[in-house]
Amino acid sequence: MGKIKIEKHDSVKLYKIRKTLNELSQKTGHGTELISVYIPKGKQLHEVITILKEEQGTADNIKSDLTRTHVVDSLGKVIQRLKLYKKTPDRGLVIFCGALPPEGGGPIGTEVINVYELDPPKDLKTFLYRCDDHFHVDVLKKMLKDENLIGFLAIDAKDTGWGILHGDKIEVLGETGSGVAGKHRQGGQSAKRFQKLREMELTHYFNRVAHTTREYFIDIYPVKGIIISGPGPTKEDFINGGYLEYRLQEMIIDTIDSAYSGAEGIREAFDKSGDILSGFRMVEEKQIVENLFKHINSHTGLGVYGLKEIIKLLMNKVVDTVIITDDTDLNRIEAKCKRCQHIQEEIVERPNVIPRKTDLLNSPCPNCKSMDLEIAEQDLVDYLALISDKTGSKVEVISGKAEHGVMLSSLGKIGAILRYNPGYSAS
Ligand SMILES: [Zn+2]
Repeated sequence: MGKIKIEKHDSVKLYKIRKTLNELSQKTGHGTELISVYIPKGKQLHEVITILKEEQGTADNIKSDLTRTHVVDSLGKVIQRLKLYKKTPDRGLVIFCGALPPEGGGPIGTEVINVYELDPPKDLKTFLYRCDDHFHVDVLKKMLKDENLIGFLAIDAKDTGWGILHGDKIEVLGETGSGVAGKHRQGGQSAKRFQKLREMELTHYFNRVAHTTREYFIDIYPVKGIIISGPGPTKEDFINGGYLEYRLQEMIIDTIDSAYSGAEGIREAFDKSGDILSGFRMVEEKQIVENLFKHINSHTGLGVYGLKEIIKLLMNKVVDTVIITDDTDLNRIEAKCKRCQHIQEEIVERPNVIPRKTDLLNSPCPNCKSMDLEIAEQDLVDYLALISDKTGSKVEVISGKAEHGVMLSSLGKIGAILRYNPGYSAS
C-alpha cells in the first residue's frame, strides 16, 4: 500500500496548456496546411527532422500555391525550432505550427506563421505527424483529462458503492446490494449451517464486486490508485481474500474506516481522504482558498484581494502566494514610447484587447507626445507568473467552476496570501 505516487501539479503550467489548446482547437486553415507534431519521450530529434524534411519534399505536389508555401514554410519553422533543442525534453514535446490570419483578421495571403511549443503534462508515448485543416489537439486534451484518476470503493456486508475522482469532482458510478443475510440467524436454524451459508453468500458477493471493480477501474476509467472504505472489517476481508485482480490489488492506496458503505460511503470516504490525497488538486485548491478566507475573516492582514492592490504588493515583494481562477479572461496591455520609454499599462477583458490596443497606438505618448509607440500584450496569469518569478512568490491557478473557485470568484477571482502584514512593517 501507499506506493502510488500522486503527481503534484504545476497549476500555472496546466493553465497555459489548457488555454493554448482551447485557442488552437478554434483555428482552421484555408487548406490542408496546419501542422501537428507529437514527439514522444526518448525519440531522437534528428529522426524527426529527417521525417519533416521528407514531408517538405512531398509538399511540392500540393496544387495551391498558397497552401504549398504555407506548408513548406511551417515545416521549415518547426525544423528550425527543433534544432534549438540539445535533446528531446524529458516527457517529449508537442509542436503546432501553421499560417494563421493576423490578429484582428485579414484577407487571404496576409497569414502569419505561428508556432506553439508545448511541454506535455506527462510522458508522451507515440509519434504523430499530421498536416490537416485543423490542429490535432486531442491527444494532449485527453492527457489533461486522464490525469490522476482515483477510484473509490465503499464496501460492507450490505452493499458496495463505486466512485471516481477526476479533476476536481467526485462522481458516484454505481451501487449494488449484497444479498447476504444479516449476522443474526433466524430461530430454528443451526448456527453452523447459518455460518456456512453466510460465508458462501459473502464469497459470491465479493467475487461479484471484484468483477465490477475491474470493469470500472481497468476497462472504463483506468485509475492510478484506489481507496477502499467501509464500516467494520468487511473491507479488510475483501482485500485480504485476494478477490481483486492483481493489478487493482497493487493500486490500493489506503483504506478508510467509515460509517457508511454504498453511494453514501463514497461521499463520506472522499470527505475523509484529504490526507491521502493531499497532493491531489481539488484538496489543494480547497486548502489554498480556505486559508485565504481564514486570513481575511480573522483580519490577520495576511489575506488580501483586489487585482490592483495585489499587483502592487507583488511588486513590493510582500506576496507569498497569488491565487487566481482559470476563467478571469483578462489581459495586460503595455504601450511603451519608443522615444522616451514611458510605459502605459492597462488590464482589460479579452474582447477589448484589440480595440484598446488600436486606441493606444493612435494616441500620442502622454509624456513626450510622440506617436511612436510599441504595444505588447499578455495573459494576466502569465504576467503575474512573470513578476512572481522575480519576487519569489507563488501563483496558484484554481478551477473557477469548482466549489472553491466559486468562493474566490465572490472576491473578484483573485486573492493573495502575504508574507507579512504590510500595515505593521517599518517602511
Ligand atoms: Zn514618450
